[in-house]
Amino acid sequence: MSAHLGLILHVQEGNGGLSGWFSNPTAGASSTWWVSKAGVLEQYLSADLCAWAQGDGNSSYNSVETEGYHSEPLTVDQEATLASLYAWGAEHYGWEPFLAEAPGQPGFGWHGMGGQDWGGHYDCPGDLRKPRRQPILNVAFGGNLGTPGQEGGAVEICATPSGKGYWICGSDGGVFSYGDAAYHGSIPEPGGADVLNEPIVGMAATPSGGGYWLLGRDGGVFTFGDAEFYGAPTGLVH
Ligand SMILES: [Zn+2]
Repeated sequence: MSAHLGLILHVQEGNGGLSGWFSNPTAGASSTWWVSKAGVLEQYLSADLCAWAQGDGNSSYNSVETEGYHSEPLTVDQEATLASLYAWGAEHYGWEPFLAEAPGQPGFGWHGMGGQDWGGHYDCPGDLRKPRRQPILNVAFGGNLGTPGQEGGAVEICATPSGKGYWICGSDGGVFSYGDAAYHGSIPEPGGADVLNEPIVGMAATPSGGGYWLLGRDGGVFTFGDAEFYGAPTGLVH
């Protein structure tokens, strides 16, 4: 491979392992990894070799197929394995804790972002799986929440309206969603690392559960999902 920019998420559009198909050279299809619904990881190629899974993107990104269909969400076990895989890649190849949304960007990308040059698979991995990349990154880099007793780390937990889930936010603006809590975004995004002047010190969810606000120590308010901005006493800290 010419570079290790990150990992590209795919959907299998089927069930069952892929080794039979991938070992058929005429199929012209392969990925580095595959993750079953039960969270089992299979590796088909050395991560140092180019796969064929995403056309022109193969020389600079590794690829992972996920069992199931684009109309089905990733399972909890699949997400846990993808987080472990990404953490491994971060250690071995320096994969960045960012979302990649276009070819050439480092991080956790998706097949359709490559457009026609990557085979025109715009629906791979689909609208249910694609937005799970950020929560997966949050888990993969969860160690960044910090050490108890030191400044930083987790600062707030908010329940969903049903009480069957919650969000946890960290002082760096990272948001981690659990149970029926939907992920609506967090502050560490590509190019957004410098947005925070002061750490996040609080979080509140909207009554619908469709969004949340994060509060910075300087009074800055950050909105996500259906949370709206109504003003903020910024400049509280100098
Ligand atoms: Zn794909």
